[in-house]
Amino acid sequence: MMGPAHSLSGAAAWLGVGAATAAAGHPMPWPVLVVGALICAGAALAPDLDHKSATISRAFGPVSKTLCEIVDKLSYAVYKATKTRADARRSGGHRTLTHTWVWAVLCGAGASALAITGGRWAVLGILFVHLVLAVEGLLWRAARMSSDVLVWLLGATSAWILAGVLDKPGNGADWLFTAPGQEYLWLGLPIVLGALVHDIGDALTVSGCPVLWPIPVAGKRWYPVGPPKGMRFRAGSWVELKVLMPAFMLLGGVGGAAALNFI
Ligand SMILES: [Zn+2]
Repeated sequence: MMGPAHSLSGAAAWLGVGAATAAAGHPMPWPVLVVGALICAGAALAPDLDHKSATISRAFGPVSKTLCEIVDKLSYAVYKATKTRADARRSGGHRTLTHTWVWAVLCGAGASALAITGGRWAVLGILFVHLVLAVEGLLWRAARMSSDVLVWLLGATSAWILAGVLDKPGNGADWLFTAPGQEYLWLGLPIVLGALVHDIGDALTVSGCPVLWPIPVAGKRWYPVGPPKGMRFRAGSWVELKVLMPAFMLLGGVGGAAALNFI
């Protein structure tokens, strides 16, 4: 799928988690719902850091461009090192290492570790990166027409404001993990979820997604998981734009309303 559909599916997934926790009698504070949905929308773009024309690889100028080149090389090296004879030969790293559950968990765990050890600036940094991505993904037409610097400013100011809101007692800095010193440990959860939702979205497209790596399936470590061929669609096709994206908006809306106990 393309960036906007990935971001929408990420936001909808977190709002769905919000609805589920509310139904289980433990509603999220609203800032956790809102910030989590935005982080998840941003994190749902992250696996495409292995592709130079992806939104995330262009979002932070030369920084993300360099990171993209490193990630592509690393992914390709890991692919070559772990492929079995049944896995296909390939010439680049796109849709390999960053499109696995292992990568999703590592990113989330890394962010959580950073958040609890790095203090306020680490939290602001994590929020900034994901808010910039969320703006690029959710408002992509507007973001593409404005300059990168404006999007970064928007990301920085909203990170600052949202961290201020979360810091207020009862607003969710200590959501789920309540022991002292565990503030913002939960930030890794929407990051893991966003990456997994991205992988599921890609699995629905023609080439599938090797999300299970390194667990072997049918002799392949990089087995391209996906539905039967006839049910797959092309990235950016009308199914994505006219069926999936409206469906994600609707599901996100319903999930958000249920999470806040409006319905
Ligand atoms: Zn992808």
